[in-house]
Amino acid sequence: MENCNIIDQHPLLDLYLRRRNIQFLMNTPRIRHKALEEVLGRVPKFTEPPGTKVSEFFGANVFNEDAMRMFLTEDAYFAVRQAIHQGQRIDRKLADQVASGMKEWSATKGATHYTHWFQPLTGLSAEKHDAFFEPIGGGRSIERFDGSLLVQQEPDASSFPNGGIRNTFEARGYTAWDPSSPAFVIGRTLCIPTIFISYTGEALDYKMPLLRAIRAVDDAATAVCQYFDKDVTKVIATLGWEQEYFLIDKALYFARPDIMMSGRALFGHTPAKGQQLEDHYFGSIPDRVRAFMRDFENEALMLGIPVKTRHNEVAPNQFECAPVFEELNLAVDHNVLLMDIMEKTAQKHDFRVLLHEKPYAGVNGSGKHNNWSLATNTGRNLLRPAKTPKENLQFLTFFVNTIKAIHSNADVLRASIASAGNDHRLGANEAPPAIISVFIGEHLSKLLDGLEKNIKGAMTPDRKTELKLDIGRIPSVMLDNTDRNRTSPFAFTGNKFEFRAVGSSANCAGPMTVLNTIVASQLKVFKKEVDALIDKGTKKDEAILRVLRDMIAESKQIRFEGNGYGDEWVKEAAKRGLTNINDTPRALDVWSRKETKALFASMEVLSGVELDARHEIELHSYTLKVQIESRVVGDLAQNHIIPTAITYQNRLLENVRGLRDVFSADLAKKAGATQLKLIEEMSEHIGGIKVLVDEMIEERKKANAMEDIRGRAIAYCDKVKPYLDRIRYHVDKLELLVDDELWPLPKMRELLFTR
Ligand code: ADP
Ligand code: MG
Repeated sequence: MENCNIIDQHPLLDLYLRRRNIQFLMNTPRIRHKALEEVLGRVPKFTEPPGTKVSEFFGANVFNEDAMRMFLTEDAYFAVRQAIHQGQRIDRKLADQVASGMKEWSATKGATHYTHWFQPLTGLSAEKHDAFFEPIGGGRSIERFDGSLLVQQEPDASSFPNGGIRNTFEARGYTAWDPSSPAFVIGRTLCIPTIFISYTGEALDYKMPLLRAIRAVDDAATAVCQYFDKDVTKVIATLGWEQEYFLIDKALYFARPDIMMSGRALFGHTPAKGQQLEDHYFGSIPDRVRAFMRDFENEALMLGIPVKTRHNEVAPNQFECAPVFEELNLAVDHNVLLMDIMEKTAQKHDFRVLLHEKPYAGVNGSGKHNNWSLATNTGRNLLRPAKTPKENLQFLTFFVNTIKAIHSNADVLRASIASAGNDHRLGANEAPPAIISVFIGEHLSKLLDGLEKNIKGAMTPDRKTELKLDIGRIPSVMLDNTDRNRTSPFAFTGNKFEFRAVGSSANCAGPMTVLNTIVASQLKVFKKEVDALIDKGTKKDEAILRVLRDMIAESKQIRFEGNGYGDEWVKEAAKRGLTNINDTPRALDVWSRKETKALFASMEVLSGVELDARHEIELHSYTLKVQIESRVVGDLAQNHIIPTAITYQNRLLENVRGLRDVFSADLAKKAGATQLKLIEEMSEHIGGIKVLVDEMIEERKKANAMEDIRGRAIAYCDKVKPYLDRIRYHVDKLELLVDDELWPLPKMRELLFTR
């Protein structure tokens, strides 16, 4: 143990150490071969679908409209609806009725327990189960669940990160019911989506700030919509995510402590059969994978997650799943839930799901594209070009404001996707770069350029007519504006923006909270400027066009239509003054900037205290992840790789000695030359590993001794992390030299091509 108590107390590390002890005992060459044997012997486990048609079982495990109508009194039903649609409070008496109806409904689904389901800043969901059952003395019992238990709970939450907001020893955090996301049953448990807040009211989770951002963008967008349509009283944000993931057989997973502990392969020579051979090698999805997919998709559908079957593979053993888009808060919950269901279902099929952004070096990473738009209560998608010039001016307004929001807040958006895992993906050659830019396609670019060219100040009548014509033509040009640029981190794709730089393991709430907050803030600025012009006597349409024109000019630098993966873009972006921050600790600096705090406070999404807390938690989480990887690398290299190499050296030495026994000195020297060379080469790598592991441990000790959380994260990033690759180099060389029979870890080709 090193001298860093704060870190060493972390539950993740505890788990890691416990598992490590078991695993390292098991992880002998026998385990690798046994694992491979096990994989080859597996058969697909197809399960009966819950019904013949999806419509028969979709949402069966959700306390949805139908269930509410059946199990709630009219008053209670109305109260919940008001809470969902208007955000109104539910009074205590009605809450009791809702709780009772919910309990009855869940009993018909076999639920015996209930839990407040929430999303702490660890990025996973958390739950605390309680039984409905309650003894009441005299050997009798009742099933109790009333309004107070529905509405608020105090979980024993001392181990959830809170960034110093909550005194951990007091463990005073509350979960509170979020009626806008319906309750559901998993197994025998009624799950109630909740927010998680400290008892002083600060957000300790992802959901609370998301709900605040949703409200902020609703307020700002609804106000702007008044220019175009007085019937708009509410604007909702929509999200359609696309979840990429890798599958790995359970047996192989257990034979790779690095993948178990860190979610990615820290060693392994790139396989000869790489991604180039895609079609040949993984054109069809094997039955085992298909059985798993059907199973988890059915589970998801029963929980009301509208997944559409999608079986495209990108890299070997990589898959994707996407639902139809939904209201943002619900879509976020559904993604968190889906990641959970995927992992649980995978285990039934002897798989493990890898949600890590870059499980295998040299192979595609995994992302989670966030398709985002805004829709009105009148049923209009504000980012869809329409038929009339008036509606198109509305489209253009939201389109340009979004681009401007990204331009003014690129660093905040960048921070929202920063994580240790995503660092391996952003900037790597097959993923969006760490530079934030916006792609909008050729036709819209031309349109914006045309608008921008207009002279400053008032417009001539001719120019106005011309612009109206241009704007009127948007829908027809959109038809051929197909989304061909796959390299942009933030792309307009016809009727929505697609934020592609989000990592596969992320909670969408983080980036979505930021996106909606910056758009809300931008829309407020826009409205203020337009209103000022109108007050001075400018006609509404012209006022809007003039403000848009200025915004287009100001945000021009963020637009990029070229190849985002090329080196030229890095240079060009630097010339344009766009930031390119390649590591998490530095990307997170923006959280503590004065302007960021002012932005989030003015939109009432996060207070300065809450931002500081998040910053601290994210730095800490980064440090932990690199620390775990570094320890696993040290342990594996020293306790597995070096001994294996030495064993093989001994065999070679024996061979050389044997040659000397049989042959003359001269002949033996010739016959044993290759062996001796191998022994020497291996010694170099063994020595290299030893020196580097020792140095890495020293760097870790120095980093751990640092008091400053940011300083420590930076030390882990700059001083410790580089050793992972340097040690890997020697280990991967040894993999090529050592007898395959002896190699303890399943190799990359086995991980990627065996299923
Ligand atoms: P890709 O080409 O990136 O795979 P797809 O077209 O297959 O993209 O998926 C697009 C995603 O965008 C789907 O999840 C879909 O539900 C979502 N989507 C479509 N319209 C909207 C919208 N208005 N708001 C949010 N998401 C949307
Ligand atoms: Mg996509």
